[in-house]
Amino acid sequence: MSISEHLRAQAQRSRARIINTPATLTLEQWEQTLVDFDGMCAYCLARPFDVLEHFQPIAIAGTTIKNCIPACYKCNHKKRDYMGDKLIAIFGMEVISRIQTYLDAREAATPDYPVRFKVQRPTLQIKEVYALNELIDSLPCKIVALCEKASIDPSVLLHARVGGRIQQGNRAKLLEALSQVFERSLNEQNVTGINIVSLPQPETMQDKPSYSLRELFDNLPIPIKQLGERAHVNEVTVARIRDGKPARRSTVNRLLREMGKPDIYDRSLSLANVTGVNIQGEKQDSPNGDEPSADAA
Ligand SMILES: [Zn+2]
Repeated sequence: MSISEHLRAQAQRSRARIINTPATLTLEQWEQTLVDFDGMCAYCLARPFDVLEHFQPIAIAGTTIKNCIPACYKCNHKKRDYMGDKLIAIFGMEVISRIQTYLDAREAATPDYPVRFKVQRPTLQIKEVYALNELIDSLPCKIVALCEKASIDPSVLLHARVGGRIQQGNRAKLLEALSQVFERSLNEQNVTGINIVSLPQPETMQDKPSYSLRELFDNLPIPIKQLGERAHVNEVTVARIRDGKPARRSTVNRLLREMGKPDIYDRSLSLANVTGVNIQGEKQDSPNGDEPSADAA
């Protein structure tokens, strides 16, 4: 797991202060730089960035808006502390002057940066489950365009991609926008890696005599992939059970037991108080009477 941009900028300012060079890069400035490079490495524009890189060595130019760019590990390793002609020899004149032009524009505080980048992104295969980061790394548009479509601030997305918690409403808007740009259905069930701020217990999930399997899945606070791993049930099987397809009694029991754990629903869940489960070789479940035997936790 990567660190938050706040901590990343702070750590680099501390480094600069210790060696007595300028340490003025703000979180907002750094996040804008990330958005400008679309979360990609400033040198190769082909890999997502891994580190905050000082274009000129930190000892010379410090941690400032005109000296900090995102870089992948590979380019960061190649670059070392080289400057000037040595840098051009490694990356080529075009790359170095492109970055220099960008940094000059940032220093001049030009409201609209003149340097726009064409990034090369891999295409996203059709899969059962996607990680947020692979979606962002394969975006067919710029991060900033996605954020506009979702009506969220880019800082929210930059925060989410390193595992930071975001509001439930922002997650919904983000998933909606991602579904549009990738032209496939992306939702809480098939996208992992988005952490949300709080998990308010919805009205429907108050303690009650019986629960429908559908509502248990609809309100699930963790991805189904994770639920499957915890219950030792194949993710595809979990999805089939969710969709009312027949499944073995023992498998369903394992799943319900896991859903009843304290960090999920924190109550006793079993075939006695969950409806809508389709058990292989048996008649479809229905609640038997008004008095279920299971006790609510
Ligand atoms: Zn790179």
